[in-house]
Amino acid sequence: MSDFTLSKDADGVATITWDVAAKSMNVMSTQAFFDLNGLIDACLADGAVKGVIITSAKKDFAGGMDLNVIAQMRAGGSAAIFDGVMGMHKILRKIELAGMDPKTKKGGKPIVAALPGTALGIGLELPLSCHRIIAADNPRAKIGLPEILVGIFPGAGGTTRLVRKLGALGAAPFLLEGKLSSPKEAKATGLIDEVVEPDQLLTRAKEWILAAKDADLVKVWDDKSYKMPGGTPYHPAGFMTFVGANAMVLGKTMGVYPAAKALLGAVYEGALVPFDVALKIEARQFTSVLMNPSSTAMIRSLFINKEALEKGANRPNVADQTVKKLGVIGAGMMGAGIAYVSANAGIDVVLIDSTAEAADRGRAHSEALLDKGIKRGKVTPETKAAVLGRIMATTDYAALSGCDLVVEAVFEDPKVKAEVTAKVEAAVGPNCVFATNTSTLPISDLAKASQRPDQFIGIHFFSPVDKMALVEIIRGKQTGDRAVAKALDFVRQIRKTPIVVNDARFFYANRCIIPYINEGIRMLAEGVEPALIENAAKLVGMPLGPLQLVDETSIDLGVKIAKATKAAMGADYPDDAVDAVLFWMADQGRLGKKSTSGFYAYSDKGERLGLWEGLAARFPRAPAQPDLATVQHRLLMAQVLEAVRAFEEGVLTDIREGDVGAILGWGFAPWSGGPFGWLDILGAARAIDICAGLQDSFGARFAAPALLRDMAAKGTPFYPAPKAQAA
Ligand code: NAD
Repeated sequence: MSDFTLSKDADGVATITWDVAAKSMNVMSTQAFFDLNGLIDACLADGAVKGVIITSAKKDFAGGMDLNVIAQMRAGGSAAIFDGVMGMHKILRKIELAGMDPKTKKGGKPIVAALPGTALGIGLELPLSCHRIIAADNPRAKIGLPEILVGIFPGAGGTTRLVRKLGALGAAPFLLEGKLSSPKEAKATGLIDEVVEPDQLLTRAKEWILAAKDADLVKVWDDKSYKMPGGTPYHPAGFMTFVGANAMVLGKTMGVYPAAKALLGAVYEGALVPFDVALKIEARQFTSVLMNPSSTAMIRSLFINKEALEKGANRPNVADQTVKKLGVIGAGMMGAGIAYVSANAGIDVVLIDSTAEAADRGRAHSEALLDKGIKRGKVTPETKAAVLGRIMATTDYAALSGCDLVVEAVFEDPKVKAEVTAKVEAAVGPNCVFATNTSTLPISDLAKASQRPDQFIGIHFFSPVDKMALVEIIRGKQTGDRAVAKALDFVRQIRKTPIVVNDARFFYANRCIIPYINEGIRMLAEGVEPALIENAAKLVGMPLGPLQLVDETSIDLGVKIAKATKAAMGADYPDDAVDAVLFWMADQGRLGKKSTSGFYAYSDKGERLGLWEGLAARFPRAPAQPDLATVQHRLLMAQVLEAVRAFEEGVLTDIREGDVGAILGWGFAPWSGGPFGWLDILGAARAIDICAGLQDSFGARFAAPALLRDMAAKGTPFYPAPKAQAA
């Protein structure tokens, strides 16, 4: 059955309805585009049809292009992509010109997009080619072009049309940031034309069609007198915009995202030429982005695999474990955040701390976040009352009765955690799952304090809890499947992304971040210019340089972790050179951002000013500085090899989790699709070459793991290449 169906009414208005069978949200496939084309041809050829409504039978219009198809398109090669994209342009241009006489611009048939709800990506590009976009007043609907967030850009005319409609400056937040709007916001910014009551959507669309005049169908850019809002690049005002935009984009992306560069190219070059040539330029730039392995890697990790993990790709086959009542022990920074995200997701929460004041302070954290939301117009007073109403702050463990999940976030001390475990287990029913939010203590050891180790699990949140999308679930040696399912169902409820890993020192995320920080500190001790270390990290797509990262997480925490690790590892401990720097900083009282002094200098208000000048005296600059690539390879390989070893050792059981977890957990170079994605872009052979060079110069920590050497010998990647799509 086709995804599009056609019906006609007695007044000569045809309706093309989009309804992809067996999917809750419409997504565009290649075949569906052909089918749409056929229906448009039929309407244009049918003398009885006066105009066409394009709408959806679902509550939303469309979620976008089927990204699985985009991932496969690349396998067809650049010529196939370019031809395919030009084919799409032709169909959308046909809708736009609607059979009008090319000279007089008369005689076209009005085509209206009627959007009942969300319209994303191609779900907005198709409407942009129509003569009017009318949306239902549905505050839950999101309208926009989020392509840039998964490493591509709107390539079905959306870029060219939006820039011509709103000007480069007006279109920038939608194209460059993937900004999404409610229908009313979209109308206010000119993204769409009209918002009506939901039950008036089709009536109004029909009314517009029947009243439309020839001139209503001519797009501004097809009018001879068209001038781009804000000016084209060689217009004085336009010049300012384009120069500024270029600097802003490069400043934000450090030039590592091919899609941002290509998008800017399509906008700039497209603005200099007539509309149809601009579409062709857009298609060329889009092809170049699809051919860049970064877009494949980003789509794979940030969309396809992220969604698969959220849908429970690694969930044990156990009955539904939706959490009804949650206990949170410890109302500090983490516990308060966990209580907030849970109550926000509709879960009843009992928030316990050792004093009533501390428990209340934890609840007040939610109040502060909700108040912020109200100020921004994102939260209503009713929602605030409902969310706060779900959080009971107390010191009384008896209140935990009826909880089906308890998460502890008390001090990082095994003794305190053991006491809390016993107290909780005495208060809850026999089926309640107990989770610890520990960041460093082995789950299997903590589980020794439990009467029910099969129901004991790690649920490791990242800070700040309300912002960080990743949750690392840690299976202890005795953790049972039901506990894993419980944790996964909980993470789904609070709309975060889970990875499930096995129990080993620092689990997965911290295991990879620590070597990154350590490598930065090691270089500082060697006399590498600190600005080179920090900038090299950012220029390869890391959100924070290693020295800034340790300042943010605090230097005393680093010292604490180093001491505990050394105690556990004994003679095998490899990081004395790092500790010499870290401990000296702590001795100077430079504890990082929280003490307004660390590797960076800060103002009294805590604003980061620049690298601390005292570093130069303590760690004199070596006369010979490494080149940028060497610094970057050291920083990336320190993390990536740890990820490979985690996979080799079975801590990670799924490379998809390794990649998604790295990007969401610590911001690992998103352009690369994650550590395994980066290794695939390099190729295993090149990766082991780099490792060999680093090992020679800097030591055994860079020795290529056996898995990588084996892959290089066989020429295999981590991810098999997608098959070419059958046309
Ligand atoms: P915190 O010091 O801000 O909060 C701990 C809270 O636990 C305090 O309010 C304290 O009063 C309470 N508490 C201590 N003993 C208690 C007891 N016996 N009964 C009830 N409440 C008790 O610490 P935090 O940063 O929220 O960290 C909590 C846990 O989360 C630790 O295990 C930590 O390793 C882990 N964690 C922290 C981060 C982070 O970035 N801070 C990230 C991930 C995990």
